[in-house]
Amino acid sequence: MKPLFELLLSDVRFVEGYHTCMNCGVCTAICPAAEFYDYDPRKLLNQLQQKSDESIIELLKSETIWYCGQCMSCKTRCPRGNTPGFVIQALRKLSVNLGYFVESEKGRQQFAIKRTVGDNILKFGYCVHPQGVAPDLHPEQGPVWRWVVDNAEGIMDRLGANYNKPGAGTLRKIAQEDLDELQAIFDVTGGTAMYESIENFSREKAKLMNLDFNDDTPNEYFNVVYSENSNQHNKNN
Ligand code: SF4
Ligand code: SF4
Repeated sequence: MKPLFELLLSDVRFVEGYHTCMNCGVCTAICPAAEFYDYDPRKLLNQLQQKSDESIIELLKSETIWYCGQCMSCKTRCPRGNTPGFVIQALRKLSVNLGYFVESEKGRQQFAIKRTVGDNILKFGYCVHPQGVAPDLHPEQGPVWRWVVDNAEGIMDRLGANYNKPGAGTLRKIAQEDLDELQAIFDVTGGTAMYESIENFSREKAKLMNLDFNDDTPNEYFNVVYSENSNQHNKNN
């Protein structure tokens, strides 16, 4: 395998976001994630400047790369034209491709987001769809959510929404040919391969953790990664 720094250089987001860093810390000063998490874009850029596999693997296995909220405030201020938010995107992609994401709690959650929001996109044509917001997984929706899901068609009719039917409007049914086109876009842009990588490495991790893993959502591994929280992420803890 090529040196990891070279693999990062093959990602256009890395090329766009990473130039020389003079370690000034302006990005960290403006970064909202740095206020709450043990996260520091200045340190991260500095670590990357070592260009060694060892320091990059440390990042790929870390919680750190999952703390960035992708607000891109850093892009607006860096005197060297860096965008740590783009660098993070490239690191996350590499972490998923090589399977290092399963070594961190936040990284393992990529499986949960793939099985929910990710699969919703290809199944419904929406990131979030009432049928994809299972009441058992979303207690934050409140006690009436199960009733809303069970009676969605009648409720939407009364609200005048075109729910799950052809035609116009929010939550209309997305035509199969459009879903097929979405799938084709995922296929040619690497999205499908990324989903497969998340599934395959998560299956291996589930084996190591002695947890059941299958195509159903939720399953035992899903429940663990969806709910585990070490409470070690907030730097004020
Ligand atoms: S603002 Fe730019 S130059 Fe300064 S530490 Fe951040 S990335 Fe490096
Ligand atoms: S994009 Fe990420 S690194 Fe940049 S300011 Fe926002 S949270 Fe911080």
